[in-house]
Amino acid sequence: MRNNFGIKILVTLICICVAAALPLSLPRLENSDALGDIKTILSSRFESAETDEDDAWQLILVNADNPLPEGFQPELTELSDGHRIDKRVYPHLQKMFDDAREKGIRPAISSSYRTAEQQQAELDQKTEEYIRQGYSREKALEAAKKWAAVPGTSEHQTGLAVDITTADASVQAADVVWKWLEKNSYKYGFIKRYPENKTDITGIGNEPWHFRYVGAKAAKEIKKRGICLEEYLKKIHKK
Ligand SMILES: [Zn+2]
Repeated sequence: MRNNFGIKILVTLICICVAAALPLSLPRLENSDALGDIKTILSSRFESAETDEDDAWQLILVNADNPLPEGFQPELTELSDGHRIDKRVYPHLQKMFDDAREKGIRPAISSSYRTAEQQQAELDQKTEEYIRQGYSREKALEAAKKWAAVPGTSEHQTGLAVDITTADASVQAADVVWKWLEKNSYKYGFIKRYPENKTDITGIGNEPWHFRYVGAKAAKEIKKRGICLEEYLKKIHKK
C-alpha cells in the first residue's frame, strides 16, 4: 500500500512537471505522425497561386484518362514524419488534423506525395500480391490498377492527395478516423475521392482512406450533392 502511495505521488509530480513544460516545448502536433518542421524542399517550375482567385491547380483532374502534364512538379512541404504535400494544402491539412485531435480522433498519414518511381513501385507491389494469389501477370496487373494507378495518372503525384489512417494500430480506430473525415473533411477543402458508389466513374475501388484537396468551395458542393470530382468538373464545365 505504502509503495502504491509513493508511486502515485511520483506519477502526479511527473504529470505536473510535464504539464508545466508542455506549452513551451511541444510543437503544434505531438506524435511522430505529426505534421511540423515545415521545410519547403522542392521548387516548382510553375508559379504557384497564393490566393484562391485561380483555383485551377486545386481542381486538376488526374485519372486513367487524364494523365499529369509532362514535367509536372508541385512545390512541396515536408512534414516532420517525412511525408510531403503541396505547400498550399499544408495549412488546411494541419487544421483538419488539429481539429480531429481536439475531438479525440487520432489520424495519421500513411501515404502522401509520390514520385513516378514510387508510384511504379506501388503498382508493382500490388501486381505481385495478385500474382501470389494465383493470377496471371496480365490479370494481376489489371486487378492492381484498381488500387494503384499507372505512373502519371496517380493523384499522389500531384501532392494534393493523402492517405489517412490512424495513429492507433487497429481497424476500428481507422474506421473512427474515416467516419470523422467523411463527415468533416469538406470544411477543410478535402473530399473522399473514391467513394464506393462511384467506382464505375473513378475507375478506382472504394478507398475510405484517400482524401484529395479540391478547395473549400468544390469540397462543399461535392459533399452536398454526393458526387465525385469527375461529375463536379463536368458540371462546372457545362456552365
Ligand atoms: Zn491514395
